[in-house]
Amino acid sequence: MYIDSHAHLNYPDVVKNIGEVLQRAEDAGVEAIIVPATTYRTSLDIVELVQKHKMLYGAVGIHPTELKDFEVSHLEGIESLAAIDKICAIGEIGLDYYWEPYDSELQIRILREQFRIAKRCGLPVIIHNRNSTNDLMELVRSEYDGGLLKGQFHSFSAGQEEANECIKMGFYISFTGNITYKPNDSTRIAYGIVEQTPAEHLLLETDTPYLPPMPYRGKQNEPSYVNHTAAKIAELKGITPEELGRITSENARSLYGI
Ligand SMILES: [Zn+2]
Repeated sequence: MYIDSHAHLNYPDVVKNIGEVLQRAEDAGVEAIIVPATTYRTSLDIVELVQKHKMLYGAVGIHPTELKDFEVSHLEGIESLAAIDKICAIGEIGLDYYWEPYDSELQIRILREQFRIAKRCGLPVIIHNRNSTNDLMELVRSEYDGGLLKGQFHSFSAGQEEANECIKMGFYISFTGNITYKPNDSTRIAYGIVEQTPAEHLLLETDTPYLPPMPYRGKQNEPSYVNHTAAKIAELKGITPEELGRITSENARSLYGI
């Protein structure tokens, strides 16, 4: 009934127990999981991982905080991996001005290239944004191409105005387990965005192994915990978790073609 649209199951601490993690996910009602890459190297790992497990789909791409070993040939590599069966998106890509030092020009250049790869391949993108909303929105607008660029803003961290614009452009947004934490300024903004966003533009995600929902805060996150995030979002929408699960799974299937 749920699709976890964002789980880094390839990370060493998670992949070592992958059999149990997937069994618990299935028991919790998770029907499919998307595993995003962060480098060319992990893109190759993910291609292999998703061939082994029926419920897994993969994304290939280069994350903005992982540009240390970047080589131009990696972009060609990503584009050829994108054609492989069960690779359903280009991601996780985006901008990150939180971790210093960062090179915003380089991040923007590589993001633009990956947006173009996604459009050439007809695949959606999975977008990461940390402290970079203005530059990101500017780039999304300039590469939008009348809707050729489509995808998901994962772990949404911009404001209501940007959320409205994303939705108007046909993008999907998702929140991680931190929406279940004790109300503070940023959760309150998130509540408002969830309330204003039609369920037809929401996706569910865990961002495993990060940001577990209550009551697992402080532990390693995993896809089976997505039902706690779903329960909170369903409450904010005034619908049942089952209904939210049904709609968001349909959204994920239609966006990612899975
Ligand atoms: Zn992620």
